[in-house]
Amino acid sequence: MKYTSSLVTLLCATSIHAQGPKWATPPKLVVGIVVDQMRPDYIYRYWDNFGDGGFKRLVNQGAFLRDAHYTYVPTITGPGHASIFTGSIPAFHGIVENYRYDRTSRSTIYCVLDTTVHGVGSDMRRSPSQLLATTLADEIERRTDRKGKTIGIALKDRSSILSIGRTGDAAYWFNSNGSFVTSSWYMDSLPAWVKQFNAQQLADSYLKHPWEPLLPIERYHQVLPDENPYEQPLVPGGKAFFPYNLAVLSGGPAGLGLIVSTPWGNTLSTDMALAAMAGEGLGTDAITDLLTISYGSTDELGHKVGPRAVELEDMYIRLDQELARLLVELDKGVGVGKYTLFLTADHGVIDVPQYLKDLRGSAGYLDIADAREAINTALAKSSTAADSVLYMRRGEIFFSEHQGSSLNVYELAESIRIVNDVLSQDLAVAMVMPSPLNDIFSGGPSMISDAVRNGHMAQRSGDVQYVLRPGFIESRSGDTSGTEHSAGWNYDTHVPVLFFGQGIAPGEVVRRTAVADIVPTLTMIIGCALPDASVGEVVHEVIAR
Ligand SMILES: [Zn+2]
Repeated sequence: MKYTSSLVTLLCATSIHAQGPKWATPPKLVVGIVVDQMRPDYIYRYWDNFGDGGFKRLVNQGAFLRDAHYTYVPTITGPGHASIFTGSIPAFHGIVENYRYDRTSRSTIYCVLDTTVHGVGSDMRRSPSQLLATTLADEIERRTDRKGKTIGIALKDRSSILSIGRTGDAAYWFNSNGSFVTSSWYMDSLPAWVKQFNAQQLADSYLKHPWEPLLPIERYHQVLPDENPYEQPLVPGGKAFFPYNLAVLSGGPAGLGLIVSTPWGNTLSTDMALAAMAGEGLGTDAITDLLTISYGSTDELGHKVGPRAVELEDMYIRLDQELARLLVELDKGVGVGKYTLFLTADHGVIDVPQYLKDLRGSAGYLDIADAREAINTALAKSSTAADSVLYMRRGEIFFSEHQGSSLNVYELAESIRIVNDVLSQDLAVAMVMPSPLNDIFSGGPSMISDAVRNGHMAQRSGDVQYVLRPGFIESRSGDTSGTEHSAGWNYDTHVPVLFFGQGIAPGEVVRRTAVADIVPTLTMIIGCALPDASVGEVVHEVIAR
């Protein structure tokens, strides 16, 4: 039998060869999966609790880039999704923050806010108008003369919108009233299949059940008991250990929005993705379609409980089942080997710093309110510096004017010097860097200074950047439970990248690669143009030839 099957393979290979190059027969469907806040070591740590059809199938039958990184800061959701799908960096695609500070309005602007559009299914005004480079969806639309269908699904609005971009067909996201919605940027009314999906009220029915561990508790890789001081509750004032009575918790102010912090936020995302496949007929003809799915619950829960929690492992064991379910449906609907899939994450995350501190690791917090006050006090003492700091968060500082007029180059330099003097007194701060255009302090070690530059866009970023030391995060009013991401250190930059399906040569790649390499690699399989600002390189090892 073995001989026969290899003979069949040989004959197939020969006949495909006779039809021309592989890229002339592109996959019928490309599936891009983003797990929000996933570290590669979750695959190692949870491996023995995974089933055969999810992560293990992707690793065993696909290609695994084991040392793939983001090359910019801040490593957060908006910039992450934009960078994955443009194959680029914030300096070029323009999504430098989830909420960036705007000097003119003296307020923050959400990365997918657009007051010129209206919500479809909700009153949220959202669009990709702040994204300044093409995505994989844009290039598939171009390659297929707009006949390919390109659809994004996510819990978070920014995750679906920035995965698809400006000229793709649709981005749908979860509205806390329990339904999936979109923007007039893409369409004027929801398609019938979305209305039917929403009418099932799945979020409501999932929240009727309690959340208990899927496996016997001794099978989890816990280094801490389920109840510990490093975790935050699912809802304010609640408890942070099993079981969670979701029916009661969702009866409070959280409402149906509670689902995003539970494994069923991921279930709902798979449900919606499968509804999109059926409703739009994705992958059913020879024209390449794109489906993007961002699993957002891993981030919502991850912030609250951190990487060592039993709850988080339970969520990943259930996500593994979701992936298996998705793959089975793709096999049925599109065909085994007829689609190309990748999975990555928009950023990693650090352990709860207080936990690391208690282990006597080098870790801790920078209290942003205190730091800002200290800088303001020092600025006030100078007659040639900014009057004050307008905004300070996540590595960015924006200065005010000096006595009513904008800062000249000397006043800017003096203001930056003062920030450097104040912040470098705190061990939590590794370095202070001026904006690249005001490069009077030379940058510091290359990995981090490159990351700051790659994440910086003159029109949208601050006057001076500061970088915290590994292990440190900005504290939220002294809270030492829960955790955060955004740094240029490995715990936030290092993410898994898995390729699977048509055109993919299975195996492991252990050399250092970049998340920006994913899309250029896919364009070689699809046979379409590179996105405008793509900076990655093709990972040649994973291309089947
Ligand atoms: Zn997050």
